[in-house]
Amino acid sequence: MENELLRAEKLKLIGQLAAGFAHEIRNPLATIHGFMQLMRRRGHESALTSEQKEVIVKEIDRVNGIVEELLNIARPESEEEVRAVSVQNLAHELDILYTDAFQEAGMKFNIEFPEDELYVEAHEKKLKQICVNVIHNAKEAMTSGGQLLLTVQRQASGEISLLFQDTGEGMDEETKELAGTPFFTTKERGTGLGMMICHHLLEGMNGSMNVKSEQGKGTTIIIHLPEASNELDVHKS
Ligand code: ADP
Ligand code: MG
Repeated sequence: MENELLRAEKLKLIGQLAAGFAHEIRNPLATIHGFMQLMRRRGHESALTSEQKEVIVKEIDRVNGIVEELLNIARPESEEEVRAVSVQNLAHELDILYTDAFQEAGMKFNIEFPEDELYVEAHEKKLKQICVNVIHNAKEAMTSGGQLLLTVQRQASGEISLLFQDTGEGMDEETKELAGTPFFTTKERGTGLGMMICHHLLEGMNGSMNVKSEQGKGTTIIIHLPEASNELDVHKS
């Protein structure tokens, strides 16, 4: 629970910081990035090796990624209402986005589509962003191949669970403990913000996320959301 508190406090702080600094950081970064690319393209004489220049561009991209993710938190809530979102539609969109990309990268993304039409109460765009973050993490954990399986369960409690089960490298105890804390990453070019953003977005829609993981075997991320109860809320798209 102490961790939960720590997470909440840090989130608050980040929200405040992000709003003030993100724009200030972003513009000079864009200038530097453009300049470096120009230098690379023109093969300008410079004390830096092309490898070093490459690193600079990548590092700038990483900082830019952090700023992007912070801005996603700091942005005022979108106009979008919590409404009934079709789980089938969501799964279909993820299928289109990722099945081929996984195959090209030598892994599999499989979806067990639920037979019943299921709806969750959620912000559609934010829910998609959460899934995208989870899927990216799974992909990054399976660089030497594997399978990500998405299944959907309806719980007796009136919740819907989305299970993302990967056969990747898994997490050690420390990683499991710290994943989701701002800026915690085990990746060379990670931002350490993806999972924190998932927790944050889910809180805003009465959802939650659990992590089960075993090192060397894989990870299962479970997203819980309330089932949409009112038929009238169902948005036909
Ligand atoms: P990032 O992906 O930028 O590192 P995240 O917040 O998305 O930041 O993830 C934090 C850390 O949690 C990752 O660096 C990784 O160690 C661990 N992690 C998250 N998802 C998985 C997964 N599916 N398999 C293994 N490790 C994971
Ligand atoms: Mg991530």
